[in-house]
Amino acid sequence: MKVLVVVDMQNDFIDAALGTKEAEAIVPSVIEKIKKYEAYGGLIIYTKDTHFDDYLSTREGRHLPVCHCIKGTPGHDIPDEILRGHDIIFEKLTFGSVELVDYLKGVDFDEVELIGLCTDICVVSNALLIKATFPEKEVSVDSACCAGVTPDTHNAALTTMRMCQINVV
Ligand SMILES: [Zn+2]
Repeated sequence: MKVLVVVDMQNDFIDAALGTKEAEAIVPSVIEKIKKYEAYGGLIIYTKDTHFDDYLSTREGRHLPVCHCIKGTPGHDIPDEILRGHDIIFEKLTFGSVELVDYLKGVDFDEVELIGLCTDICVVSNALLIKATFPEKEVSVDSACCAGVTPDTHNAALTTMRMCQINVV
């Protein structure tokens, strides 16, 4: 069975606090990919970057002083057309989700495919975490369904993942 992990497709990363035109541009491809997994009957899992009112005093906030993905605000939400009623959602307080990896330990899967935002932070963090935990499984990233903080750092992250034997398509 194939698992699709949709990383942090939240309003603040698409077209709000930390949005980019590259992130907006992948939305139709992301929706198409999710529909393919629905048709195939794959397991679809979402992650959400999650912060609270104290964000600016956290380590991430000191390094990136732009409030984003604050729980309870619209920026934290995944648009309905992307969430599509699915309900396996990991709210993660860090770039990579240990909870996601622990959940996958209980799933009989052959391959995990990751898509979403941002390629160079949370997609690469989770891809490497999954690869490290399941070295005999296939881990893939669809570059057409990902966007980075900048196009350069998007491409750098894809190179890093390729070097780590993640299938970058
Ligand atoms: Zn964050």
